[in-house]
Amino acid sequence: MLGQPAEGRNTRWARRAVLGVVVAVAVVTMVRYFVWWDVGARCVIGMRPSLVGYDNTTIKRALATLQSGSPEDYRKVCAHVATINPNPSCGGFGGGCFWHSEGNRGRASIDVSTEHGLIWTVAIIVHETCHAIQYHEGRPPWFDLEHECYGEDDRILRALVQFE
Ligand SMILES: [Zn+2]
Repeated sequence: MLGQPAEGRNTRWARRAVLGVVVAVAVVTMVRYFVWWDVGARCVIGMRPSLVGYDNTTIKRALATLQSGSPEDYRKVCAHVATINPNPSCGGFGGGCFWHSEGNRGRASIDVSTEHGLIWTVAIIVHETCHAIQYHEGRPPWFDLEHECYGEDDRILRALVQFE
């Protein structure tokens, strides 16, 4: 006989349904908290889990602010940044960080503190993206790397303050 007992079939379906729900919840959670996914702009940026309790949604709101408030900066972030780490490291609290390392030769990973709120988070993203661009494009040895990037975050801060 080829037919299976009805009970076994139901159990299997139930298991599959439960597994499906678990996978769906996991994917939704992943995308909700750990991925910025802009289908239209083909922009996908990963976010590391925040270890200090600040919510990754601040990073997402910052990206959304750039997307609408300064499309040119947003395009640069999408082109040069693959991962945002919301945990403060070398920049300490209130800052950000970009590492000149082999792993950042492609789209880079930047560290961005979110504890000073949305506007500062936007400014730090722009500042660290500026460093990623410098690293990707190269700058002459005497070039003042910080000066250029402070100029960038200053510009975006002024733009956003006017914008609000
Ligand atoms: Zn800097």
